[in-house]
Order: sequence, then structure tokens, then C-alpha cells
Amino acid sequence: MINVQNLTFRYSATSFQLRVPEFSLDDNERVAIVGPSGSGKTTLLNLIAGILTPDEGAIDVDGTNVSALSDVQRRRFRASTIGFVFQDFALLDYLSARQNILYPYRITPALTLTSEARERAEALAVSCGIGDKLDRHPSALSQGEQQRVAICRALVTQPKLILSDEATGNLDPDSKARILDLLFEQASEAGAAFLAVTHDHELLPRFGRVLDFAQFRQEATA
Ligand code: ADP
Ligand code: MG
Repeated sequence: MINVQNLTFRYSATSFQLRVPEFSLDDNERVAIVGPSGSGKTTLLNLIAGILTPDEGAIDVDGTNVSALSDVQRRRFRASTIGFVFQDFALLDYLSARQNILYPYRITPALTLTSEARERAEALAVSCGIGDKLDRHPSALSQGEQQRVAICRALVTQPKLILSDEATGNLDPDSKARILDLLFEQASEAGAAFLAVTHDHELLPRFGRVLDFAQFRQEATA
């Protein structure tokens, strides 16, 4: 599902440089990424999702070289292939929770908003415990509720690849386990691969493999 080779990336005007010589993720695989804050975990997810483009190296997702796509193609590819739960949720406050969950259908011509999609949004919201809050806007939701909206949005399109950036970070222990169940359940139902950044070490045994990010960190010398 993911194949990264000789990747380097640097934000302009910073000394931080991410180097990933090799990383791959099989279809159906569930991998957790751990590592210190600032080690580049979010940066790697953004590179895989094509939100950032690498300075060097190749990133293949589901057989497509993401870096070779135009901006529009990349956005469409992302919306139809990847479900991304962002660390900061990235919800739009002028939309209700329901509209946020269904947002991928607004922006992607390849995705058609069917009644099944609407039902799926509803069912996901109920599973996440926000079924009664779908008409509220993000500013009227708690952090944990906003996080659940972001999770539902990532899952509603039944993506082949689920990227999750500390998606259980703002939840109480019971909700954490339940939301992770949901993410795993959706991943197996859709036959999706699942790559998750997490600080919850008690959740690690549930993943097939754990990647410690400390090894990728390199400060550039210049
Ligand atoms: P993590 O997710 O592991 O905490 P990040 O990938 O967010 O780490 O950040 C890696 C490094 O890149 C940090 O030093 C951070 O300050 C820097 N960084 C992140 N985003 C930007 C940006 N947009 N511009 C410049 N530097 C950034
Ligand atoms: Mg991060």
C-alpha cells in the first residue's frame, strides 16, 4: 500500500530534516508509529498523503507515485484513496458535524454522495457516540467530540489507506479503546491498511508492527 524509498524532506528555513531510507506498509497491515515530539511523524504522514512533497525520493501509495501528480490530481487521489485523521482535526467551523463528515464528497468529483454514504456517516457517528450531535458546529463540540467527527470523516469514504495522527489523544481510556476498535473494524471491513501515530503505549500490542521514529531523525548540519 505504501512504499517509501530514500525520502528526504526539509521545511524551508529550518534545520529539521527528515530522512527515511525505506518504509513500506502492506495492504491490510496495521502499523503504529511512535517517537518523540518533533521527530517528524506528522511530516511523514503529510508526505504520504501528498500534502507535502519530498525533496528527494519516491513515495508510492496504492501503486501511484504521489509526488508525480499535479496538485489537483493529488487532492483527488487523496480524497478517494486515503482517510486521514489529522492531529489538529482540521474541521471547518462553518459546516455542521454532519457536513464535515461528508466533506470529502463535496470536494471530490470521483466520489458521489449516495444515500448509502449518508447512512454510513450516520452509523459511524452513532458508533463514535456523537449520533445526537450531527447538527452542531465544531465550535459547539468538545475536543473529544471534534476528534470523533474527524475520525468519521476519515472513514466515511471507506478508504484503502487510513492515516491517523494521534487520533485517540483527546479521549478517555474507554473511548480510546472503543474508537480504536472502530478504526480497526473499518480497516478490516474495507480491507484497508492502517498507519497510526500514537502516544498511547498501552494500545501498541494491538498493532502488527511498531515503528520507532527516533531512528529517522536527523538534523541537517548547515
Ligand atoms: P511530530 O509529529 O513527530 O511531533 P512534526 O512532523 O510535526 O513532528 O515536526 C517535525 C519538525 O518539523 C519539528 O521540528 C517542527 O517544528 C518542524 N515543523 C513542522 N511543521 C513545520 C512547518 N510547517 N514549517 C517549518 N517547520 C515545521
Ligand atoms: Mg505530530
